[in-house]
Amino acid sequence: MHDVINPANEQVIASVPSATVEETDEAIVRAHEAFPAWRDLAPGDRANLLRAFSDVVRDHAEELAQLEVANAGHTISNARWEANNVANVLAYYAGAPERLFGRQIPVPGGIDITFKEPVGVVGVIVPWNFPMPIAGWGFAPALAAGCTVVLKPAEITPLTAIRLGELALEAGIPAHVFTVVTGKGSVVGQRFVDHELVRKVVFTGSTEVGQGIMAGAARQVKAVTLELGGKSANVIFADADLEKAAASAPYGVFDNAGQDCCARSRILVQRSVFDRFMELFEPAVKGVKVGDPLLDATEMGPLVSKAQFDTVSGFLDGSAPIAFQGECPDGPGYWLPATVLAPVDSTARVFQEEIFGPVVVVTPFEDEADAIRLANDSEYGLSGSIWSRDLGRAIRVSRAIESGNLSVNSHSSVRYWTPFGGYKKSGLGRELGPDALDAFTETKNVFISTEE
Ligand code: NAP
Ligand code: MG
Repeated sequence: MHDVINPANEQVIASVPSATVEETDEAIVRAHEAFPAWRDLAPGDRANLLRAFSDVVRDHAEELAQLEVANAGHTISNARWEANNVANVLAYYAGAPERLFGRQIPVPGGIDITFKEPVGVVGVIVPWNFPMPIAGWGFAPALAAGCTVVLKPAEITPLTAIRLGELALEAGIPAHVFTVVTGKGSVVGQRFVDHELVRKVVFTGSTEVGQGIMAGAARQVKAVTLELGGKSANVIFADADLEKAAASAPYGVFDNAGQDCCARSRILVQRSVFDRFMELFEPAVKGVKVGDPLLDATEMGPLVSKAQFDTVSGFLDGSAPIAFQGECPDGPGYWLPATVLAPVDSTARVFQEEIFGPVVVVTPFEDEADAIRLANDSEYGLSGSIWSRDLGRAIRVSRAIESGNLSVNSHSSVRYWTPFGGYKKSGLGRELGPDALDAFTETKNVFISTEE
């Protein structure tokens, strides 16, 4: 058993079983046995079950949101968005079974057609930062493709995943098609990698663990999708709408207390407007409402755990100057204020490493080439923003930054209609968007001779 703690007050709110290797194997075998019937269900019937699942999740969105506030310290407004995101992603991929097209390819001597066939059992390994959405981005397209799913939530944030597993059954998804297995990454998650009946692993989490999963999957030539860390740049040119760029910059990094792989945690500002930007940025940071995550107006809650609090605090070691900080509650709970480090050189540890907390660095640049060089001076490449009124420049810089998800004059969050994933050590493969099912299917080619 593992005690689950509310990070806003340090109270134990639940105790959750930790599955053994044998229990994990049992869930995998059951998922394997459930696979043929799920795969062979008529596409329209699978679509209807996914729509029903979506409806049940939406009907329980408030309950799921409240659970997430208690378990992960998310603000209630974020948690409501997250629960509805699961419903939306299920509804979006409910349209996919009936559109899982192959191709007809012209060849001599006959007809050539391709089929997209589900790979089998998919293991989804979810981190603690966005327990609901990240789960849904894995299981919804996998189920739509005709795969069965075993899902492991992070040990510290299992409550919404457990509830989603129950809601699937309530919606009529057959038993063992979608199974939530709680427990340790080193036990349950590792079994997804090592068990031969799991044919695909979707992992979101740290680059270090992701590298181990990729190496482990290589032993069985098992497919992996990896969504790993980030250190994304928010690049602000002198010709930008500076007021808007400064007012929105806190929300590009401090959302979910900075525990977001897409956090724009490096702000790069053209030197000619650096001082003006900092003048505008300070009140914006101090204006972020930090406190009780259950209040509608709250914009930032606590960090998820004592361990994460200690990790993030460790970056505030005096090695980079603190320009200014916001406020936060004291007393119980893992609270840190929004913190701005500036000016920071690109060689500094706080510029290079993913902090995964409410800490941002600000660094000046000279010109467009310098901005691109600094943005790409990272082993990561997940997200990023470009602020400029010059559309040509915005497009040039978007194309030049080695990153999977960029937004111009905005900090767009992950959109389920569009592909999401990273360059470099931020990951491998893409989730979401119209092509998500490719990650859960094999392409089979069949040639039919028409010769007499
Ligand atoms: P992590 O260790 O990579 O955990 C992510 C998930 O992988 C959890 O479900 C974890 O289970 C599981 N896991 C751990 N070891 C495993 C193994 N050997 N085989 C299979 N699964 C395994 O991440 P973390 O420790 O929670 O966070 C550390 C850092 O990772 C953060 O500070 C941040 O930099 C980064 N991170 C990135 C993202 C992202 O969205 N890209 C998300 C979270 C964290 P347990 O919970 O049981 O350990
Ligand atoms: Mg870990």
